[in-house]
Amino acid sequence: MRVRFAPSPTGKLHVGNARTALFNWLLARGRGGTFVLRIEDTDVERSTPESEATIISDIRWLGLDWDEGPDTGGPFGPYRQSERAALYTRYAHQLIEQGHAYYCFCSREQLDADRAEALASGRPAHYAGTCRRLLTEQVEARRAAGETPAIRFRVRDNYEVRFEDAVRGEVRFHTDVIGDPIIVRAEGTPAYNLAVVVDDALMGITQVIRGEDHISNTPRQILLYEALGFTPPAFAHLALVMGQDHTPLSKRHGATSVGEFRRKGYLPEALVNYLALIGWSPGNDEELLPIAEMARRFSLDNVGLSAGVFDEEKLAWVNRHYLKAAEPARLVDLALPYFAEAGLSMTPDEVGLSYLASVMPIASSSVDRLNQVPGRLAVLFDFSADAALGDEAVRAEMATAEAGAVARALAEELASAPRLDRERFRAAANAVKAKTGQKGKGLFHPIRIALTGRAEGPELDLVVPAIDRGAELPASCGIPIIVGCRERAAAFARALGA
Ligand code: GLU
Repeated sequence: MRVRFAPSPTGKLHVGNARTALFNWLLARGRGGTFVLRIEDTDVERSTPESEATIISDIRWLGLDWDEGPDTGGPFGPYRQSERAALYTRYAHQLIEQGHAYYCFCSREQLDADRAEALASGRPAHYAGTCRRLLTEQVEARRAAGETPAIRFRVRDNYEVRFEDAVRGEVRFHTDVIGDPIIVRAEGTPAYNLAVVVDDALMGITQVIRGEDHISNTPRQILLYEALGFTPPAFAHLALVMGQDHTPLSKRHGATSVGEFRRKGYLPEALVNYLALIGWSPGNDEELLPIAEMARRFSLDNVGLSAGVFDEEKLAWVNRHYLKAAEPARLVDLALPYFAEAGLSMTPDEVGLSYLASVMPIASSSVDRLNQVPGRLAVLFDFSADAALGDEAVRAEMATAEAGAVARALAEELASAPRLDRERFRAAANAVKAKTGQKGKGLFHPIRIALTGRAEGPELDLVVPAIDRGAELPASCGIPIIVGCRERAAAFARALGA
């Protein structure tokens, strides 16, 4: 089995295309097949090296690797269509010589006029076939006069193209509705339909798995395979990824590219797992599967016919699962850019990194995405009693005699206490309870406000020891200074007294 992913480097990697890459990869990896990456950059105006680089780095980020491709090489290279021009020219000329293709001199204006006329009289709006019947002498004369023709493929008249689609079953197209497609543009560049057929044939591709947006190209391609004397591969066309309103997922719906989801802080294993579930079901009601397990179970038989809707809430749910499972040290690495974005740039050394890894579960157990980690851990780095009391509700609560007493008793209790771990924090809270008679919410809510400057946040049992471990870090460890609980309680009592 040889499959391929063949992106055009004309923009970002859309999640729908990423899913196409993933399905090809899953099939190849699950069946010991070969996965080929081919860059389809024949559209010189729209293709850019930046887009190619972004697409490649996004597929890699998703964890997909390829056996043959523009960077890895392989026995059927080159793997970039712009480097294969001579092949397309050769096959285009072969088609002309055999009568399967012809030169077309029709101008844009002529084609537009023909099209308008066809539409007006209720005929199919495809190419009218004007140049089909030009004589060789006429062609030669016009070329000698400096006209540069395109080359068109001669589609068989009155014929039904049939193929068995691995997802959709039997598909039929009558050639009445298929115009002769351009296979080499007037500027000399090959068109998609020719390049894709030549490449899939020469690269020995056995299964073409791609988006349904290409299904109307398939009959033209099958006719080209036949005219060129190649055996067509098997085809599978995947239903497109849709937005919530059941139209193809596009910018109108929000994020659409792998890069955007990466920047929002989704983990690659979460995005890959979620993308696989759009249109494929592993069975047994299971949804959360590592990629290797998906490859083991993947089959086109379980790919649905109906379009899958992209649901970011479901993606967030999958992401939460993988955030909880991920190594904290890895999450620290991935979260650092988001701290920088949040105005907390840091360059932690080993001590700093291991501290951050120790506090990461406080955040990763309760966020949807990595970009929410800095907000969740801000309680460590940014504490201000005055700012806390600037909040109307907090101020009103802390102005009560009961809460004020708790805050003052806490400051007294911690003044001479060592740094708090979980047990010492419990002991201190008990001492405050004994001193003030407050308990439950009346005790812990003022404590929370006094130690974190916030009315809500992660569990105190976790956050208090984290603050005090942070307060002991050497300044050289490369993370912002963390004010300890003792100092926080004292500052809060002072602010209340003022
Ligand atoms: N280059 C085409 C695209 O990006 C892929 C065509 C194909 O898979 O046959 O849509």
